[in-house]
Amino acid sequence: MLKCGICGRTMTFYKDSKNGRTYLKPCSKVDFTTGKRCPNGASSLVVIDQFINDVMWKEIKPAMNVLNEQIAKNTEILDTTSSRVKELTNQKKDINKQLDKLLDLMLTSNDHRFKDKYSQLQYRLQEVEKELTELQSGDSDGKDWGDVFLELNKEIHILPYKGKSKDPKVINTFIKKYIDPIVYKKNDLEPDKPYLKVHYTETVQQAMEVYKQYRKEMNEKLEARKQKAIL
Ligand SMILES: [Zn+2]
Repeated sequence: MLKCGICGRTMTFYKDSKNGRTYLKPCSKVDFTTGKRCPNGASSLVVIDQFINDVMWKEIKPAMNVLNEQIAKNTEILDTTSSRVKELTNQKKDINKQLDKLLDLMLTSNDHRFKDKYSQLQYRLQEVEKELTELQSGDSDGKDWGDVFLELNKEIHILPYKGKSKDPKVINTFIKKYIDPIVYKKNDLEPDKPYLKVHYTETVQQAMEVYKQYRKEMNEKLEARKQKAIL
């Protein structure tokens, strides 16, 4: 789950047998073209744990909450994928119709513009079909985005992180549903504050987008209220 911010290698941890604490191993990947070791250094797990905690409970959980409320109010968000599929299916029909017409025209005329248009449309058709396949394979496991979201939302409210589980594997599997990977880079000036960058999983990404929008609107409302109070 933790990737090196310099070479991209997956980073691992080790337990110090003397003090029982867990540390991040320094990255040791050797660049074969230069023979040099990756310079990314180690860090204590506590720092990284705290960071993950903050992300999970101060960012992701509130975002999931907001999106959940919006879904309860309005199921439209869940329909974005299916409406895109509809849209693309219609486009496909339309392009096929146009291609048929052009074929007829090309039978009776040698105008190169028909030919050009025909290849343009064929290209467009390929793109539409590609996107359709991607969208439809996305839920081939029988779950659409909404189901996955509801599951994750439920888990983050009841399940096992925050000290409830001590098994790092359980915790790891749980966190990976929300953030994956986390990119780590040591900080030479302040070793206790390494650079950590989170990548949200697809479902959480959408929740974060909605959350961002929500917070923006809330801030605007607050500003408007302040302005009113001043006047
Ligand atoms: Zn590295």
